[in-house]
Amino acid sequence: MARKVIYRFASGNADGNTNQKALLGGKGANLAEMAGLGIPVPPGFTITTEMCTEYMDKGGMPDGLIDEVKAAMAWLEKTTGKKFGDANNPLLVSVRSGARASMPGMMDTVLNLGLNDTSVVGMAKLTGNERFVYDAYRRLLTMYGDVVLGVDKEHFEDAMNVVKRQMAKDKGIAVPEDDEELGRVIPDSMLEAAQWKVISEEFKKILAAKTASGFPMDPVDQLVGAIKAVFDSWNNKRAQTYRKMHNIPASWGTAVNVQSMVFGNMGETSATGVAFTRDPSTGEKKFFGEWLPNAQGEDVVAGIRTPQPIKKGPNTAGKSLEEAMADNYKELDAIQQKLEKHYKDMQDLEFTIEQGKLFMLQTRNGKRTAPASVKIAIDMCKEGLISEEDAVMRVEPDRINELLFPMIDPKAPNKAVAKGINASPGAVTGKVVFSADDAVAVAEKGDKPILVRIETSPEDIHGMKAAVGILTARGGATSHAAVVARGMGKSCVAGCAGISVDYGPEKAVKENNDYSQAKFVAAGQTVKVGDVITIDGTGGRVYVGDVPKIPPKIGGEFEELLKFADKYSRMKVRANAETPEAAKAREMGAQGIGLCRTEHMFFTPEGILAIREMIVANDLAAREKALAKVLPIQAADFAQLFEIMDGFPVNIRLLDPPLHEFLPHEPDQQAEVAKAVGVTPEEIKAKVADLHEFNPMLGHRGVRLAVAYPEIAATQVKAILTAACQVQKKGKKVAPEIMIPLSLSKKELDLMKEIVDRVSKEVFAAEKTEVKFKFGTMIELPRAALLAHELAETAQFFSFGTNDLTQTTMGLSRDDAGKFLPPYVDQGVFEKDPFVSLDTAGVGELVQIAADRGRKTRPDISLGICGEHGGDPASIEFCDKVGLGYVSCSPFRVPVARVAAAQAAIVARKGDAEKTRTV
Ligand code: ADP
Ligand code: MG
Ligand code: MG
Repeated sequence: MARKVIYRFASGNADGNTNQKALLGGKGANLAEMAGLGIPVPPGFTITTEMCTEYMDKGGMPDGLIDEVKAAMAWLEKTTGKKFGDANNPLLVSVRSGARASMPGMMDTVLNLGLNDTSVVGMAKLTGNERFVYDAYRRLLTMYGDVVLGVDKEHFEDAMNVVKRQMAKDKGIAVPEDDEELGRVIPDSMLEAAQWKVISEEFKKILAAKTASGFPMDPVDQLVGAIKAVFDSWNNKRAQTYRKMHNIPASWGTAVNVQSMVFGNMGETSATGVAFTRDPSTGEKKFFGEWLPNAQGEDVVAGIRTPQPIKKGPNTAGKSLEEAMADNYKELDAIQQKLEKHYKDMQDLEFTIEQGKLFMLQTRNGKRTAPASVKIAIDMCKEGLISEEDAVMRVEPDRINELLFPMIDPKAPNKAVAKGINASPGAVTGKVVFSADDAVAVAEKGDKPILVRIETSPEDIHGMKAAVGILTARGGATSHAAVVARGMGKSCVAGCAGISVDYGPEKAVKENNDYSQAKFVAAGQTVKVGDVITIDGTGGRVYVGDVPKIPPKIGGEFEELLKFADKYSRMKVRANAETPEAAKAREMGAQGIGLCRTEHMFFTPEGILAIREMIVANDLAAREKALAKVLPIQAADFAQLFEIMDGFPVNIRLLDPPLHEFLPHEPDQQAEVAKAVGVTPEEIKAKVADLHEFNPMLGHRGVRLAVAYPEIAATQVKAILTAACQVQKKGKKVAPEIMIPLSLSKKELDLMKEIVDRVSKEVFAAEKTEVKFKFGTMIELPRAALLAHELAETAQFFSFGTNDLTQTTMGLSRDDAGKFLPPYVDQGVFEKDPFVSLDTAGVGELVQIAADRGRKTRPDISLGICGEHGGDPASIEFCDKVGLGYVSCSPFRVPVARVAAAQAAIVARKGDAEKTRTV
């Protein structure tokens, strides 16, 4: 083969390195990197992802690959001094999946390959530990049966239980009916070599009965079968779901790592564990992890036994590694420090100790909660490990929202019924469900499920996604539930020993997936399916019922990070807000209002009445009389807004929606309005009929209202400028911007400008002062974008209203598209919902054109975006490229936008290479 398809690694040297994740997968690239650094790694080799894609395309093993694998195995035999399938000194290997992006537990791995009826005898002689060898053999048979031959694990469990029941009988113990109970009375650790031998024989019989050729005794056949199975696991359902959720392309494929085995289950000087170089939940800088003596790798993650802490500390469950194996701990501690310095990021490690010798089996940038990601970024910056810009790049903008999770109100009277591990932060309230499918069903009904499980497994992913929170009775901070919840940003309390979960009758659950009788008990209270609970992933507590929560505050490292963000961004971030939300916007760091929707200010009882009077008025005089009532209401609101914004620009849009939206359509309500306004119900009814439009979105709204009724615009302008004058007279700074919606021609703007000029003169004379203000327009119609050079003659600013611009460019109604957009996104017509993420190719092109043409006429024109897209990181990156001056979004998106704006600027400055970094 001309291409290099296999990369070898052994402590001290390696063909590959960490920069080759695309080719070697994350696991392979980092095994190579660790080996290259001289860290003890069991030797092995990586088959490239290209081989996986070729295997997929071809539907079979790529030509020549098997020969390459055989050559690499010969090298591995020489390196380890062992022989694959040998009767005297057998080499055993694992075959591990590993894609470019980490997909924990989604694909398959097979351990202990190379054991067969011959080598098992040799191994037993060599190790003098028959029990261990037959335990390893039965694990291989189960895993191979499950992963490669597709035999359901249940058959093996049943066979094992037969042996366990016999053992109980022999020992004179009452034999439990229930399988779970049996597992407690006769745990695996009680089985001796003799039992494992019998079990291995039974397992082989099962495989012979259930498959055409049974378990292959030829180790090369085993190896080839396992490699194929790992390739195939790239396309299993779990992996597909995970890829979809994380936008991982199906074309990447997985690499396959073939690695010599080390054993953590060879007695009391052996162990296995998982560790993080910092706390993945809080970000605290302390070596953190869990281990199990005399166990194999998966035992920690699977939550079968409760693991012990790595570091010694107060009230820890079980002995720490630091105490139990001091020398190995010291070596591990040195390695973790070295790895973190090397990768300049928090690492997630797998290690195994075989009879007193430490081996590293995996390292990767660890998944972490959003608060942890912020703390780690800022701490590492302070430690001099990374730059301020790097710190900003380390935080995923979309996950910033998780820092704004509500917290349990400390004043709440509720008492927690149980306490577990605070695996992923945020307090949530929801309805209890006990199965992944039920979680999905409840979420589909619009309810908020909290998934309660004894422990979770990769089969539960869809339910975890649907749930608002996850609660498990077993498993530690590195258990499946904890890792996945952190990845998804869901609140999670794990390992909550204080709840005892009962899934209900085994038959219902196993045969019908029926969890309707499930319940859990905590502090004497029984909680059933559908009951409301609150879990607090920040404090690790569980409450019955809905507990009051308080909104979060920006402070500490979060504030520091946002300050860095503002320092490096080229755009400002404003908020779409009216009073009183504007105060929230300031708190979130908004540097101005990008869109104040004046109609929102009418949604008070007296406001709505005034505007309704104005609408039903039949002539100019009556309209002006009603508008006189509107004026002080609006002026007071604007004054408050200017005060809150304290000199930051405040962009106020004149009335935009069609007038019929202010009138009720139900006869009862029409009668009420008639009474309040002082007309007959018939008159209201007639007015509603009169205002009816077939397509209101393209109807009488925006500037079109002001062209027909200039007195409405005049009143609003008067309110804005009067308020501005009055606030300014108090000694405060004001920066109003008057914005015309939905314009499509310069002429419309000229008409509006005339009104504004006239009214401003009147107001300034009356108030005996002047304020500086800007006059501009929204760009929401393709025609406006195309004629931007003309509009810019009158407009001093453009604000891209990309919600309407998307509707009008695509001919797509936002209110109706929900029904037919999903298949468009699923089938790839749109990569994303264009109302969520700006269609840069089409709508974005119009934004670019308008910006360019506007700047040509008026080089200092102010440009911003106020559509929903102003809070979407990908759209923000586009806005930065176009050179907009600001983005504006809802108050709670402001922190997200600040980080996204900074990242866009940093990426632009450093070039595109930085963009591909994985966080
Ligand atoms: P995952 O990506 O699901 O973690 P891994 O390939 O990392 O899958 O393997 C599953 C478990 O088996 C891990 O705990 C790992 O440490 C362990 N393991 C894999 N290969 C070996 C090996 N060669 N020796 C000992 N343990 C191994
Ligand atoms: Mg792993
Ligand atoms: Mg609009």
